Amino acid sequence: KSGFVSIIGRPNVGKSTFLNQVIGQKIAIMSDKPQTTRNKIQGVYTQEDTQIIFIDTPGIHKPKSKLGRYMLSIVENTLSEVDVILFLVDVEQGIGQGDRYIIEQLKSVKTRVILVLNKIDLVHPESLLPIITTYKDLYDFAEIVPISAKMGNNIEPLLDQIRKYL
Ligand code: GDP
Ligand code: MG
Repeated sequence: KSGFVSIIGRPNVGKSTFLNQVIGQKIAIMSDKPQTTRNKIQGVYTQEDTQIIFIDTPGIHKPKSKLGRYMLSIVENTLSEVDVILFLVDVEQGIGQGDRYIIEQLKSVKTRVILVLNKIDLVHPESLLPIITTYKDLYDFAEIVPISAKMGNNIEPLLDQIRKYL
């Protein structure tokens, strides 16, 4: 199986850490300049029968200018073309305006979205359920997967979920 994946999420939720964990190299850091990259390959995960091509996506923010609106339209084109979107959130920070804005944008995209609850090493397991409920009320996610990108927890099950949509 082979396919394209976009990782989205507000700054500091752990997108680069996740990519580094999956790809096993420091590739993601290099394409971290905000608003300057478009449809670049961030990294490729290859294992046995699976190839996942991660496509770099500029940050999703409320546009404040014509250029900002143009950038957002490029992001939306990219998100429409990939096989699955990974929406990373920080479970310690909780849901913020930035997360809500991204969810609003996802409503105009047909691609299936996997909600990745990152940084579970920082919270009590019992606190995950109310967070999941909150997110489920906002969007019909294809899957919801808790991970710790930093500790490398639950990465394989997440890759299994991604594989389902390739
Ligand atoms: P990005 O802006 O979304 O690319 O976020 P980064 O990958 O740069 O991570 C932002 C910060 O969160 C860094 O200090 C990471 O070490 C930290 N971080 C990322 N993932 C985790 C995690 O699963 N657990 C913890 N405790 N920290 C994390
Ligand atoms: Mg980053």
